[in-house]
Amino acid sequence: MAKDYYAILGVDRNATTEEIKKAYRKLALKYHPDRNEGNKEAEEKFKEITEAYAILSDETKRAKYDQFGYVNENDFDFNPSSFDDIFAYVNDIFGDLFGNFGSRRSRYYRQKRKGEDIQYQLTVSFKEAIFGASKEIEINYQKVCDECNGLGAKAQDFETCDYCKGTGQVEYGNFFISVRKTCPKCGGTGRIIKKKCSKCSGRGFVVEKEKITINIPRGIDNGYAIRISSKGHESIDRIRGDLIIYFKVLPDKVFRREGLNIYLDLNITIPQAVLGDTIEVDTIWGKKKISIEPGTQSGSQILLKGEGVEIEGAKGNQIINIHVDIPKKLTPKQRQLMEEFAKEMDQSLSSNQEKNIFKRFFGQ
Ligand SMILES: [Zn+2]
Ligand SMILES: [Zn+2]
Repeated sequence: MAKDYYAILGVDRNATTEEIKKAYRKLALKYHPDRNEGNKEAEEKFKEITEAYAILSDETKRAKYDQFGYVNENDFDFNPSSFDDIFAYVNDIFGDLFGNFGSRRSRYYRQKRKGEDIQYQLTVSFKEAIFGASKEIEINYQKVCDECNGLGAKAQDFETCDYCKGTGQVEYGNFFISVRKTCPKCGGTGRIIKKKCSKCSGRGFVVEKEKITINIPRGIDNGYAIRISSKGHESIDRIRGDLIIYFKVLPDKVFRREGLNIYLDLNITIPQAVLGDTIEVDTIWGKKKISIEPGTQSGSQILLKGEGVEIEGAKGNQIINIHVDIPKKLTPKQRQLMEEFAKEMDQSLSSNQEKNIFKRFFGQ
């Protein structure tokens, strides 16, 4: 799209924005399709002046055009080959002037492209996941090369594409049928790179490092993710995508977590199980005193209400799984006491059985 926009609008290269606006307004009224119904030539002219105005009325775009001598489709806020888009654009800038376009709204505008998102897996400890934390990470993101404005080469290092002779289009076909297509060599820009930008090696992008502090929310778990806006890769429109943090939670040596509940395995001795005891156990909130009831069975559970994970006011519980330790080795004294205990138990057991038999036979 190498066109002389100044000549199209009939203004000087040093024209002010006001002069450009004036010139466009005059030409727009003259070539307006409503005043030139069915006139293809006027329609084309209207498209052309609007394209010129869109670039020259924007300081940044004008500077780029002055430097490079051409623009590409990405430089427009609308699709320059769509008449609807052009109308929407004209309607937005001169709505007061061309009130009769009220029905066409800016929904025709080409959306500015947002950069790609970056996905990052952040490993956190068991306690960090429960209580939240602040962590600094370093990411690599793509940024438009300042040296070449993302074009891959400096202005003087471009040359006219020899394949399409700078038109950006090529004609295929034979004597009867011919099809115009975007030039495969230059991608429709009409220019090819003679010498690649040294800063970005012609890629148009450079990789930047950035340190970002991540605030880990309380109560997160494996599979949770948060989105940090505008910390992803930069697009050609210089709009950054998002950074998405996926959390991986490391297991704990003591606790196990299921949702909001915390599980703890607790070994107790035979006397503790039989006689009961009061002991201190760990919870994620600190030490807590619990009582073991006399006759506690191995495999039973003790519930500590509200001692689990807390998320936004909802609190889980801690569940203690009891295991009674059966000793594998005994001292002679322990063995002697155990045998006495067994004897005592045998007697009481058989006497109970006798009682039961007695009951069965005599109904007492
Ligand atoms: Zn070409
Ligand atoms: Zn570059």
